[in-house]
Amino acid sequence: MKAQAISQFVKLYGREPKWIVSAPGRVNIIGEHTDYNDGFVFPMAIERRTVIAAAPAEPSDGLGENEAKIWTSAGEQTGVVSVAPGVAPTADVPWTAYIQGTLTLCAEAGFPAQPFVAVMISDVPLGGGLSSSAALEVSVATLCEAISGKTMDPVKKCLLCQKAEHEFAHMPCGIMDQFISNLGQPDHAMLLDCRSCVPEMVPLTDPAVSILIINSNVKHALTGSEYPERRAACEQAAQILGVKALRDATMDMLNAAKDKLTETQYIRARHVITEDDRTVEAAAACKANDWVKMGELMYQSHASMRDDFQITCSELDTLVDLAAAKGVDGGVYGARMTGGGFGGCAVALVKTDAVEDLMAYFAKEYEAKTGIKPFIFVSRPGNGSAIESCSNG
Ligand code: ADP
Ligand code: MG
Repeated sequence: MKAQAISQFVKLYGREPKWIVSAPGRVNIIGEHTDYNDGFVFPMAIERRTVIAAAPAEPSDGLGENEAKIWTSAGEQTGVVSVAPGVAPTADVPWTAYIQGTLTLCAEAGFPAQPFVAVMISDVPLGGGLSSSAALEVSVATLCEAISGKTMDPVKKCLLCQKAEHEFAHMPCGIMDQFISNLGQPDHAMLLDCRSCVPEMVPLTDPAVSILIINSNVKHALTGSEYPERRAACEQAAQILGVKALRDATMDMLNAAKDKLTETQYIRARHVITEDDRTVEAAAACKANDWVKMGELMYQSHASMRDDFQITCSELDTLVDLAAAKGVDGGVYGARMTGGGFGGCAVALVKTDAVEDLMAYFAKEYEAKTGIKPFIFVSRPGNGSAIESCSNG
């Protein structure tokens, strides 16, 4: 990827890049829609990254003052953004909005980028729930660190990237994606307390287990209100229960207040409260190499998202049913949908020695049942954001 970025840079701009940075996508192993409820999530960085190669702009690049130009492998297109502070978000969200937001906020935080030209190569699937958006924001913030020659406080950097997504992409996401993309470590998943913003790195080193990621390759058309509606239902439930966030509620509290809640508020809250418990338990199971337990929690998480949070879809349910049909003897400990929902990916905890068989199995059976070819890959926990090189030339 790095070599590809360099050669594309040389091809487009006729010189060598000065800075090369990267940031990974992520998969959330368990803990869905808990982040904005101040709860727990358990993601890992994947070995798929967004790499940016860049160099200071030169007059021959034809850029205006304070401009930067980026070519992306996604759609092979070029965009122009501003490196100046004070750029206002726009109502529409072109792919450059994520970059613009991050550059603007970095400039305002004292990490200005000088005008630059860049190429961006990514093998994180876009819009598949593996957070190509965070990989993009975090790689751009890392580029600003490389350009300004200063290191941002890691938590501030994550929050800045999240703010870019909120304000410039109009997506009110939690903090998980930016934290894991920035701070992921090889051989570790991250138990993140989304209230304190304190990550705990949990070893995931057993070579006998692997994480299989199956992109359903469906993304159901949403009205755009699904995410805000669920967020609102959670906030309303918390308010009725008299807690700051659902993180502070228990199932006993929820059941005691059942009469005061609508059926929808009740089942949404039930998902969040039980999912928080499952996430903490899964991290403990991971530490203990108890893969059977961890897999059971993943299946329970899926059922809760299907029945209570109602964010799965038939294709994702099919993938999880196929996983369950294999069972532990067939090499699958557990599986669930991952990401925002209504399409995107499923994540499965599997036996490493069964990976090849399972990839063929899921590909064949999923296509037979849905008519859609899935995209399947396996990943170890990967590294977080990195300045890959920074030449003085
Ligand atoms: P996810 O984060 O799950 O991949 P999102 O909808 O949050 O899905 O973000 C995907 C959007 O982010 C893309 O539609 C595009 O606008 C932008 N994006 C992410 N990575 C890239 C990239 N490498 N090149 C261009 N745009 C990108
Ligand atoms: Mg995203």
